[in-house]
Amino acid sequence: MLTKSNRSREYEENRFFFLVLLVALTSLPLSAFAADYSHVFEERYGTGSYLPSGNARSPIRSGSNDVWSRVNSKVNQPRSSGTNPHQGTDLQAAAGTPVYPILPGKVVAVNHDTSSQLGSVILDHDINGNGTYDGYYVRYLHINPTGDSITGIKIGDTFTTSQSIGVVDTQKSYAPHLHFHMTTSTASLTYKLYGFYRWVTEWNNGSHLDFISGDAISANVLYINAYACTDNTTNVYDVSKIELYYKRGSSGTWTKSSTLFTMSTPSIHRWSINLKTATGAATGTTI
Ligand SMILES: [Zn+2]
Repeated sequence: MLTKSNRSREYEENRFFFLVLLVALTSLPLSAFAADYSHVFEERYGTGSYLPSGNARSPIRSGSNDVWSRVNSKVNQPRSSGTNPHQGTDLQAAAGTPVYPILPGKVVAVNHDTSSQLGSVILDHDINGNGTYDGYYVRYLHINPTGDSITGIKIGDTFTTSQSIGVVDTQKSYAPHLHFHMTTSTASLTYKLYGFYRWVTEWNNGSHLDFISGDAISANVLYINAYACTDNTTNVYDVSKIELYYKRGSSGTWTKSSTLFTMSTPSIHRWSINLKTATGAATGTTI
């Protein structure tokens, strides 16, 4: 089974700036599936945080403490059931579990219809605590939007990180869980959650939330984290191989490199490839 992901990255010194990776998984317990989508997600590149400092909070709490719940499916993860690729991250949470904003937020959309377990709230978040909502939208789905102090959440309502926006809904179509993802104000696209949780070790510094994340180039070597999380016993699955497709210059043709990515740091599911070796390009060539 295959999934496709566009990735781009500018690197000044060697001018490697465009790559497409084809990631093949054989260890996942999924039936064969060709990716069937045009534009449901947009990759965000690099290793940076969205926040000027610290992390966002978990939407699941125990008292006032963050609970870094188990991830049962990641952003852009290929799947054999449900939306493929998955347009968000699923967190393990029982029905009735209160759901909290990951940052202070203002409601821009709400769906109170929970008949198909699709109750949801989209918040515009304040990433630096200055009281301005910064256009970092997160959708919280499969919830019953109720709120701690607000009867009937509506557009324009504002929440602190300690005010609940609802509870995880009871089972109708799916086993109860929280699905959340970074998105637009109308939930038209899905983005990575990685940048909200760069320093959360329990979530592998954000990489537990996204199928592919943390791309970085050092000298001629490109690194990425790539793996799946599922609700099976072992939970985390490495991809079996990662292939590199590249072209030289903007008008070049796509070429598949015979060099594969190799696992560079197994403990964090990090892979690497030497772009100069893999493409045979001379120093200074635009790839
Ligand atoms: Zn989901």
